[in-house]
Amino acid sequence: MKLYNTLTRKKEDFVPIEPGKVRMYVCGPTVYNFIHIGNARPMIVFDTVRRYMEYKGYDVNYVSNFTDVDDKIINKANEEGVSPDVITARYIAECVKDMQGMNVKEATVHPKATEEISGMIDMISTLIQKGYAYVTEDGTVYFRTRKFTEYGKLSHKNLDDLESGHRKEKEAIKVTGEDTKEDPLDFVLWKPKKEGEIFWESPWCDGRPGWHIECSVMSKRYLGDSIDIHAGGEDLIFPHHENEIAQSEAANGVVFSKYWLHNAFLNIDNRKMSKSLGNFFTVREISEKYDLQVLRFFMLSAHYRSPLNFSSELMEAAKNGLDRIKTAVDNLDHLLESATDKTAENDGAIKEEINSYINKFEEAMDDDFNTADAISAVFELVKYANSNITSDNSRVIISYVDDTIVKLCDVLGIIARREKEMLAEDIEKLIAERQEARKAKNFARADEIRDQLLAKGIILEDTREGVKWKKA
Ligand code: AMP
Ligand code: ZN
Repeated sequence: MKLYNTLTRKKEDFVPIEPGKVRMYVCGPTVYNFIHIGNARPMIVFDTVRRYMEYKGYDVNYVSNFTDVDDKIINKANEEGVSPDVITARYIAECVKDMQGMNVKEATVHPKATEEISGMIDMISTLIQKGYAYVTEDGTVYFRTRKFTEYGKLSHKNLDDLESGHRKEKEAIKVTGEDTKEDPLDFVLWKPKKEGEIFWESPWCDGRPGWHIECSVMSKRYLGDSIDIHAGGEDLIFPHHENEIAQSEAANGVVFSKYWLHNAFLNIDNRKMSKSLGNFFTVREISEKYDLQVLRFFMLSAHYRSPLNFSSELMEAAKNGLDRIKTAVDNLDHLLESATDKTAENDGAIKEEINSYINKFEEAMDDDFNTADAISAVFELVKYANSNITSDNSRVIISYVDDTIVKLCDVLGIIARREKEMLAEDIEKLIAERQEARKAKNFARADEIRDQLLAKGIILEDTREGVKWKKA
């Protein structure tokens, strides 16, 4: 399996630190609003990387954080007159719903920055002890960037270019006042609280962490000092990931991550998504029009390192493509109902043909997760099945084609088998169980059943004559 490593700018063979195991960290969203479809891209593509690695037999430890302390969160909390944890709890729950809709597997651990503050204080203390960080008069702690001589190795930036960039930027915005940093390149590890803001106690001042330190700390805590893969959107290469490397390698004295993977951006109508341009969609908005499986299929129709343009035409194309696959599976399931156990002379040849599509799929995925080509291999298999598999084939062969389509789609996180509609008698059974639960005052179970039915599009109505149901 080859993957493109931003660090070396080359496709490299994947060799895990520990045979059979993958330790992977993906930078997650800042939770102050519904996630947008741009945020959904790394979630979907790196979930697919994970699924493919699991398909290959690796045991994947997948950690993805929620950034739940940030200026945008504090502003939103102030706007609504609530505390920041009300905002973050709300949007973490909404984000989890969206991830479920997109069939993104739950991470092994989903740490939150606010629950990892003591680890951050420990790492900052180590950095100070080792001379990689310093405290200024007001209690701000900065990372001493030039001391980490490999700074810039991920983004391939040169420190002097960066410094002159900083100077020009400052002149352009006419920054005045004292800068307490030793060097303009230094970045914040810990900063003093502002009036009315959330804060934690620390040896330096009451305050809160800078953004970058959280990922270094969570990655160390849940995956160890050295990990296999660190991933995120390409905007994170600099400064976020560059700073994470500096912090982690300075503190731990070992290579932080062997491979660095970055997805390109998702644009809308060939323009950068932005609130001010009004070309901005949340995943929730898309879910009103499409099954989120369609969004997932659309995202995977391009290579993760290519920019991708979101448009209704491409979403319609994804919807039709997905339908084609699902219909093929429906037809094969239907054939299986009346299939016989006979074997045919050409069974072996058909199996070989099917295996050739599996090989194509794996070759594409082994080549830096080329999901676009992997999807083409699935389409070719579907086409082959549509024109060659009939009721004349044996059960074994029909099942093999059917299961292969479903399995390859599952590697992409695509559910190829349509959910069968619930039968009236199953619905009635659940309603009766709900009534029993209510009688026993087990309201949690009663609500669970109502939600379970709702998820299948069944709405319950309490009437005088008892509980009635209808399809949404
Ligand atoms: P944020 O909440 O801004 O920290 O973003 C969370 C993740 O979404 C990061 O990995 C970003 O790189 C990624 N991301 C944000 N916007 C886009 C976009 N338009 N296309 C692709 N990835 C994005
Ligand atoms: Zn991060």
